[in-house]
Amino acid sequence: MNSTLRTIEDMECFFPASLQEALEYLADEKTCGRPLAGGTDLMVQWEAGALPIPEKIVNVLNLPELKGISEENGLIVIGGGVTHTEIRGSSLVLQYLPSLAAAAATVGGFQMQNMGTIAGSMANASPAGDPEPSLLITDGTVIVGSLSDEREIPLRNFWKGY
Ligand SMILES: Cc1cc2nc3c(=O)[nH]c(=O)nc-3n(C[C@H](O)[C@H](O)[C@H](O)COP(=O)(O)OP(=O)(O)OC[C@H]3O[C@@H](n4cnc5c(N)ncnc54)[C@H](O)[C@@H]3O)c2cc1C
Repeated sequence: MNSTLRTIEDMECFFPASLQEALEYLADEKTCGRPLAGGTDLMVQWEAGALPIPEKIVNVLNLPELKGISEENGLIVIGGGVTHTEIRGSSLVLQYLPSLAAAAATVGGFQMQNMGTIAGSMANASPAGDPEPSLLITDGTVIVGSLSDEREIPLRNFWKGY
């Protein structure tokens, strides 16, 4: 079947129990290497025909390894699966990254903030995205990983386009 003719209902959605399981599944070419988190960007883009709908998708929204906000060696570490609601309510973010807390509170409405994640925002790379500027001005970095590699990339070098 032509991938552009597939519908969202045809998609097989996998719920991995661990990040390792998610990465193994993402290595399958039928996922197009694309994870699904809150779906607030992807569902819209699939529906509009702006992106091909993959045969399989991996839901990473509630992976324990991508949850939590912590302070480590003077840095604030935010899991990719952390939602905007969790960010705006975090005492660590409010204390050390108040501009990010303020930005999270302006993302769409409460529904978007409850479902949308920080990794979803970073990967979607919308020029209109609210959290991006506050992470840029605080010298934010992104940790990206695959089955074979893990790298830390400064945000100023991370985005190549929308
Ligand atoms: C009605 C509406 C209003 C909105 N208003 C705003 C707004 O005011 N401000 C704003 O900034 N944004 C807004 N958005 C955009 C959206 O809510 C955010 O960009 C959101 O944070 C995306 O996160 P998500 O988890 O839903 O991403 P998804 O849609 O699940 O994924 C988006 C992209 O990120 C990738 N991805 C997701 N998780 C990971 C991960 N862990 N690792 C690697 N890649 C990953 C996906 O593969 C996809 O390419 C709005 C969206 C809608 C529908």
